[in-house]
Amino acid sequence: MKTIGMLGGMSWESTASYYKAINEGIKDELGGLNSAKICLYSVNFDEIEKLQHQGEWDETALILVEAAKSVEAGGADFLIICTNTMHKVAPEIESNISIPILHIADATANKLVINGIKKVGLLGTRFTMEQDFYKSRLAEKFGIEVVVPEENDRTTVHNIIYDELCRGVINSDSREKYLSIVKSLHEQGAEAVILGSTEIALLIQQAYTEVPLYDITEIHAAQAVQLAISGVAI
Ligand code: GLU
Repeated sequence: MKTIGMLGGMSWESTASYYKAINEGIKDELGGLNSAKICLYSVNFDEIEKLQHQGEWDETALILVEAAKSVEAGGADFLIICTNTMHKVAPEIESNISIPILHIADATANKLVINGIKKVGLLGTRFTMEQDFYKSRLAEKFGIEVVVPEENDRTTVHNIIYDELCRGVINSDSREKYLSIVKSLHEQGAEAVILGSTEIALLIQQAYTEVPLYDITEIHAAQAVQLAISGVAI
């Protein structure tokens, strides 16, 4: 079994979901007392979040490059960055380590392609919904069209992630807001909706809607398990 390197703490609420999903995946595959070999570096999210909102992405890259180097030195065979947003600096991380990164957009797109989804809605932080690092990878590498919520809804989605979900707050009014935004993306032609921030599945799950949901945390974790066991992500 390969050792999974994880950059976590962004937020730790979702790193806990990753840790559980990866270990459950290994248990399902191998049974008995098998558990994942993991080398995790968990950052202080307060530092990262401030730099994000100040637009100091180079500074965030410096922190994550050092964290990734530690994970590599700790024996990881490949790396997963346990946040969608910080894939913005994945190229900087990638060029400073020699182990491969299992990119969260590729993990999601692999599954969308298998299921024949061509047009998808995207919920995530403002950075993920508005900037190109995730959307253009889906479009250019996999030919998947991405729809995002309108401005007010993007603000709602973003604020709920940082003010509630990253702090472990699960609020039923916020769930209703998210479900109504999911519905409106579906009405705009999205065949499915990506839960494109690693905390969103703490708030909404498939049981709440008929619109197919793609939980990136679960998908990313499942592909990390496959890569660790068989050397192939999917
Ligand atoms: N975990 C979130 C994401 O997947 C947001 C926190 C962050 O900015 O890293 O984008």
